[in-house]
Amino acid sequence: MNDATRLPGRDSLPYGVSSYYRNLAVVEDPTVDPIAAQFVPRPEEDIRLDYETPDPLSDTLYEVAPRLVHHYHDRALILVNDRCAVYCRHCFRRHFTGNSTGRLTPDQLEAICVALAERPQIQEILLSGGDPLMSPDREIELLLQALTRVNPNYTFRMATRIPVVQPNRITPELAKILGRYGTMWMVTHVNHPREITPEFRRAIDLVVRQGVPVLNQAVLLRGVNDHADTLVELFRGLLQARVKPYYLFQGDLAAGTRHFRTSIDRGLDLMDEIRSRLSGMGMPTYAVDLPEGGGKIPLDRGTVLGKEEGNYLLKGPGGKIYRYPIEGV
Ligand code: SF4
Repeated sequence: MNDATRLPGRDSLPYGVSSYYRNLAVVEDPTVDPIAAQFVPRPEEDIRLDYETPDPLSDTLYEVAPRLVHHYHDRALILVNDRCAVYCRHCFRRHFTGNSTGRLTPDQLEAICVALAERPQIQEILLSGGDPLMSPDREIELLLQALTRVNPNYTFRMATRIPVVQPNRITPELAKILGRYGTMWMVTHVNHPREITPEFRRAIDLVVRQGVPVLNQAVLLRGVNDHADTLVELFRGLLQARVKPYYLFQGDLAAGTRHFRTSIDRGLDLMDEIRSRLSGMGMPTYAVDLPEGGGKIPLDRGTVLGKEEGNYLLKGPGGKIYRYPIEGV
């Protein structure tokens, strides 16, 4: 293991959990329960490795207006709200999530719209945070109205864990707002089959009925879903709920999350195993966000080039080689 330092305190990511999600845990012991593991802080969070950072995707490097991140040519990210219904202990956006900056202000929204108008190449907008659906309906509608005044044809990606952690927040009224502006896709975050409940299915149904397709981004988490049977059940359950498994992410190098990460070798083996048991529609892409803001790449036997001095060698865009630490089981 590399040199480790203590974080100033475990509270670098706040503690918070909805009563709904808490009730999905059978026991509140994060070492045995895959739901509890996602909301109960553990002492391991205090450990920071020298290659970890609170901002592994380098959002701050590409911020072109307050809360507007323009990293990729035709896409932009807006950090709508720093609040979440559950503060996931594996959260990768620790530099922003729960940092008390609150919701987007009207002045910030105006500045974002000016910056977007100056960048007509942007066609797709990722709405994230924190969780954007923690904002009131009226604010969500004003945001979508303002953005579609800049470009009525934007494709939106609403990144939210709300259907998983507080499904009754998805009301018929909210679903209608989501279906009303631009082309909306919802991207949710289900990690374990026990999160696919009747309440989750009802929330998804409301959204899908408004013409909003739903994708899922899961994270490969040690002690939560790092077994083939669990992943197969998860992806089959998602398809049955009309959610397409989109990505299975290798853990980002976020500060204090070492205990959640599996090795890339383990991830590749799991993908091999589940591929023989699932249809193509049920298979997500196993992917990683490269360190140093290198962008997202699929992880397969063609992009994992080998190992050198404690690191995997990963082939990034343009053939550039990135290093990702060898760790985990
Ligand atoms: S809901 Fe998303 S942003 Fe919020 S804590 Fe969980 S992973 Fe982080």
